[in-house]
Amino acid sequence: MIQTNPQSISVGTYWFGDGSLSHLPLCLSRRRTETDNGAVVFVIDPFFEGKVLIDELPIEAGDKVYFIDISHEPTTEGTDELTAQIRNDFGSGMPAAVVGVGGGSTLDTAKAVSNLLTNGGVAADYQGWDLVKNPGVFKVGVSTLSGTGAEASRTCVMMNQAKNLKLGMNSPYTVFDALILDPALTATVPREQYFTTGMDTYIHCLESLSGQYRHLISDSLSREAMELCRKVFLDKDMMSEDNRETLMAASFLGGTAIGNSFVGIVHPLSAGLSMVLGTRHCLGNCLVLNVLEEFYPSYVEEFHEMLRLQGIELPKGLCADLNDAAFDALYDASVVHEKPLINALGADFKDILTREKVRQIFEQI
Ligand code: NAD
Ligand code: ZN
Repeated sequence: MIQTNPQSISVGTYWFGDGSLSHLPLCLSRRRTETDNGAVVFVIDPFFEGKVLIDELPIEAGDKVYFIDISHEPTTEGTDELTAQIRNDFGSGMPAAVVGVGGGSTLDTAKAVSNLLTNGGVAADYQGWDLVKNPGVFKVGVSTLSGTGAEASRTCVMMNQAKNLKLGMNSPYTVFDALILDPALTATVPREQYFTTGMDTYIHCLESLSGQYRHLISDSLSREAMELCRKVFLDKDMMSEDNRETLMAASFLGGTAIGNSFVGIVHPLSAGLSMVLGTRHCLGNCLVLNVLEEFYPSYVEEFHEMLRLQGIELPKGLCADLNDAAFDALYDASVVHEKPLINALGADFKDILTREKVRQIFEQI
């Protein structure tokens, strides 16, 4: 049993259910009147540019809207650029709130920017644990894609290309102050994206429940989140209205569980793919889990069943043409994540995940 991290708190307020976006104006109006500058920053997934959702957001005169580039996952440089732009647009004042509208990439960017605005410096200064000193600008998440748990977690993940490192600002100040969980907003997600991002919850939970460090509250949340994932992905229509609502709940529970648990083998190897080949987080997780029968036999069997039922084809041959140097880089970028690998395999994990073994795994991807 691991000890509770005393700072692992959860989201302040949340509204859940179809139509809950209608609560956003009230949520922001309090902030607008309580602060000198009542203007709000909206950080929005570019998919929604020109879409009807924009008209439904309570954007007022003086507010600023930023459609961010998520053609790649968030970077420290990109976060710094957006923060500088907001500082420039607001002069010496602070926005009343930062609202992120989107999936994990957009929500993480909004969380990071909110912290940077009140803490100064650059994003890379805060990658790690408990380095953020001041509460960020009041942050609100509006989730449009379920699975990463970014809406509920105490981190925001960024690639730091200079340091060859993918790491979040792990801090109690990274948690959203308020959250809108409206399943109507996920209706437009492409099927493959819905599946791979949704599986992030399933994978986080299976890794946590298979690990050595256990925490009863986290285990309970993970077990329930996993059951909800099964309801969705073992159903004929994973994107029905009911299932989109169920997956949103699963993602929130899974994200809440993250603060007190560790992942296992999938996430470190997926992080390797991400750093070396630029593979996106959720797709990388699915590609890795797909070939880890040896370590997670019953879960992999269930995952294959979900793929089959939903008619999802994962890309093949990603590592087929890599040279020795690339396999070495993949190994290094994976085994650097010691905490989850110790959680999964014990302190001597490198005796099991040898360079050769890791290469064999990647060769199947
Ligand atoms: P994403 O935010 O990168 O979005 C993926 C795609 O889905 C984009 O093209 C986007 O435009 C589209 N999209 C989003 N909502 C849509 C909608 N309603 N309709 C149509 N298209 C929509 O995807 P993601 O998988 O949610 O997020 C991945 C990111 O989350 C990674 O950067 C990863 O590191 C991060 N992450 C964070 C945490 C955390 O706790 N903070 C945990 C896991 C992963
Ligand atoms: Zn994940």
